[in-house]
Amino acid sequence: MTILLTTLNARYAHASLGLRYLLANMGELQSQTQIHEFVIGARSTDIVEKILAYRQPDQKFIVGFGVYIWNIVEITQVVAVLKRVAPEIVIVLGGPEVSHETNDQEIIRLADYVITGWGDVSFPDLCQKIIEGPQPLMKVHAGLQPPMNEIKLPYALYTDQDIRHRTLYVEASRGCPFKCEFCLSALDKTAWPFDIDAFLAEMESLYQRGARLFKFVDRTFNLNVKTSLKIMQFFLDKLAAAPHDPVFAHFEVVPDHLPDALKEGIQKFPDGTLQFEIGIQSFNPEVQSLISRKQNNDKAAENIRWLCEQSHAHLHVDLIAGLPGETMESFAEGFNKLVALGPHEIQFGILKRLRGTPIIRHTEAFQLAFDPMPPYTILANKDVPFAAMQRLVRFARYWDMVANSGRFANTLPVILSESPFEHFMAFSDWVYANTDATHRIALDRLAGLVTTWLIEQRGISKEAVMALVSSDYAGNAKHKQGNSSAGEQKAPVVAKATPQRQSRHLAA
Ligand code: SF4
Repeated sequence: MTILLTTLNARYAHASLGLRYLLANMGELQSQTQIHEFVIGARSTDIVEKILAYRQPDQKFIVGFGVYIWNIVEITQVVAVLKRVAPEIVIVLGGPEVSHETNDQEIIRLADYVITGWGDVSFPDLCQKIIEGPQPLMKVHAGLQPPMNEIKLPYALYTDQDIRHRTLYVEASRGCPFKCEFCLSALDKTAWPFDIDAFLAEMESLYQRGARLFKFVDRTFNLNVKTSLKIMQFFLDKLAAAPHDPVFAHFEVVPDHLPDALKEGIQKFPDGTLQFEIGIQSFNPEVQSLISRKQNNDKAAENIRWLCEQSHAHLHVDLIAGLPGETMESFAEGFNKLVALGPHEIQFGILKRLRGTPIIRHTEAFQLAFDPMPPYTILANKDVPFAAMQRLVRFARYWDMVANSGRFANTLPVILSESPFEHFMAFSDWVYANTDATHRIALDRLAGLVTTWLIEQRGISKEAVMALVSSDYAGNAKHKQGNSSAGEQKAPVVAKATPQRQSRHLAA
C-alpha cells in the first residue's frame, strides 16, 4: 500500500503547507506516505505518469489531492486521466475548492472520496478504513476539527531544499473571527491558536536549519497582541543576534487594530525584514456594511499612515473592485485615498465568488454575474457593467507591472499626479488601445509606453520624461511613500531573504 499526497502549486517556490500537515498527522501510515508536488502548467499526462510511478505491484494505491481555486481545472484533468488509465486507484480530494457545493462538481463525480474542511485527522482515518475495510460507503466526509494540540506540526517536513529555495508558509493560528462575505474565512467565525511555545520551537528549528523567509498565513496576525508580540520578539532576537544574516517575516494584519505595544515592536524591525499584508478591501461604509465587514476606516487610515511614516515595514494593501454597492466612482475615491496614505504596494483585486462564501446572497439585488470557470471572477454587476469591469481588470494588471513592481518609482508619482485613479485609468486605456495586450509586455517596451504616454497624452516635455524614466532605470529612484523619517541616514539592510520586489522598493 502506498499513499501519495499531491497538489499543483501555483509556482515552484510555493511549498504546500497543507500536504505537509497531512503527512505529519498520518500516524502509523506515515512510513508508507509520500509527497510529490507539481506546478501549474505541467501536462496532465506527464503528471499522471509520475503519480503512477509510485504504485506498487499488487497493492492498493491511494492518491490524495489538495484542490484549490488555482489548480482545480488542472487537477480535474489529472483525475480524469488517472481514472481512465488506472481506475483501481483510490482518489481522495480535499481542500477549500471541494469543501463546499459538493453536489455539482465534475471533479467530485470522478473521485472516490472527498474530505471537506479540516483533513488533519480525517484523512488518515479515511485511509485506514480504505486499507482495512469495511470500505466507507459515503463519498463526502466532513473533516473533523480536533483540538489544536492534537495536530502535529509539520515544519520538520520542510526539506533542506525547501528551506534553501522556497517560501516557507507557517501558521500560529487558523481561522478568523470576522465575517467578510467574500472570504472563505468568514465561515470560521473564530480563530484557533496553536500552542505558541510549541510553534516557536518549530520556528527555532527552521531558523537553525537556515530558514530566513517566513510567510505567516494566519488570517489576522494582530488579533491577540500578546501572541503577536511574542512572535515578533522571536524575530527581533534573531535580527539582533545576526544583523548581517537577517530574517524576513510576512504577516497579514487587520488595519484598525495596532495598539502601542505592537507599534513599539514593529518599529524595531529594520528595512527589509518585515512585511504586512493589510486588507482594506473597500473604504466605502455602505459596501462594508453590505458585506458584513467591520472596519474603522479612520483608524485604519491612521495606522497605515503611521506604518508608512514611522516604521520600516513593507506594506502591501489590498483593495477589491466589484463588491456589491461599489461604483466606479466610490472605488476611485477609495483608491485615491489609499494612494495618498503611501503604502509600497496596492494589491488591486477583482471580486471572486469563492465556493461556500455568503457573498452570493447579493446576486439578485446587485445583479452579480460571475465567470462560471475558476477563479470565478466577477464579470459585471448592477453598478459596473462588463465593459467597465474589463477596464478595471486591465488597470489591475498594468498597476502590478508599473506600480507594484517598483520599477517606475520616480515616474509613478508623475503618472498619478493629483488624481491617481483617473490618470492611471487613462494610462491603462491608452496602453490597451495601443498594444491590445495585458501580458508579456517586456520592461523596455513598457518603459517606452510610459514615456510616450507622458509626452503625448500628458504634454510633459520629452527631456523631463526621459530624465525621469532613465532615473528609474539607473536605480536612483526614491520611493515616494513612507519610511523617510524612519529610514534616513543609513543604507537599507536588504536581507538576502528579502523578496526581489520588496528589495526594489527599498532600494528605490
Ligand atoms: S477578509 Fe480577512 S478579516 Fe475578513 S473574514 Fe477574511 S480573513 Fe477575516
